[in-house]
Amino acid sequence: MKTLGGKTALITGGSRGIGLEIVAAFAEAGANVFLTYNNTAPDEALRRARAFGAGCVAARLDVSKTDEADAAVKQCVEKFGGVDVLVNNAGITRDGLLMRMKDEDWDAVMYTNLKGAFNMMRAASRPMMKKRFGRIINVGSVVGSSGNPGQANYCASKAGLIGLTKSAARELASRNILVNVVAPGFITTDMTDALAEDAKKALLDSIPLGRFGAGKDVAGAALFLASDAAGYVTGQVLHVNGGLYM
Ligand code: NAP
Repeated sequence: MKTLGGKTALITGGSRGIGLEIVAAFAEAGANVFLTYNNTAPDEALRRARAFGAGCVAARLDVSKTDEADAAVKQCVEKFGGVDVLVNNAGITRDGLLMRMKDEDWDAVMYTNLKGAFNMMRAASRPMMKKRFGRIINVGSVVGSSGNPGQANYCASKAGLIGLTKSAARELASRNILVNVVAPGFITTDMTDALAEDAKKALLDSIPLGRFGAGKDVAGAALFLASDAAGYVTGQVLHVNGGLYM
């Protein structure tokens, strides 16, 4: 029996970066995958997931829109009979110093990273409660715990995700729904490619394991939280950062 055999996972932002690696890892573990994308075509994700023989479909979704979040959950339930695991991976940055930050950059980050996760959790918790089973994994960030200059909006959204996670973990525990955060450090993806070389070098020097993370490192932690092995873990923040923040 595979780790996630017979389970269905809904993964947001699953067509690239960390989300794509979570899709592949979950499909390899035997899950049916309902992945969502916003602007990036999901062809590679579908190809990789289906190579493991898993059921995999993709749907377009802007997580910040309540009606689209509701519709995605409904579609997943219709297609696969439920949502056992929800991974809120979709996220954006709009960096800038606090004193110069534009309202639209604050709002865009909060609406995608925090309200988006809320939208998905609210929609998915209903079918999970019915089944008396659920795993919700919110992809946070090391900077939600440490803070970071130039990322007040992003850090606030990721810190907010921790409070949202802990509250939901307390509300949903009696229905056997576990809610946790996986908090990546510096992972090589499009999101971090934008950093200047000298900033990357300084960061690398501050990581005890001496390397940047890969999407697979985060996918492994998400897989653990989705698995039976994590059956007594809820309301936690699992840091995956090479020791950058302890
Ligand atoms: P990425 O390569 O920039 O990918 C971002 C993903 O989010 C894409 O799949 C994108 O979908 C999706 N997305 C963005 N806005 C969306 C919206 N409104 N609705 C639905 N989907 C949306 O980023 P990543 O590095 O893989 O990051 C994934 C998650 O990990 C994010 O939550 C990020 O904050 C977190 N994280 C990353 C790092 C890192 O070092 N990379 C560190 C800590 C935390 P489309 O491409 O289809 O638009």
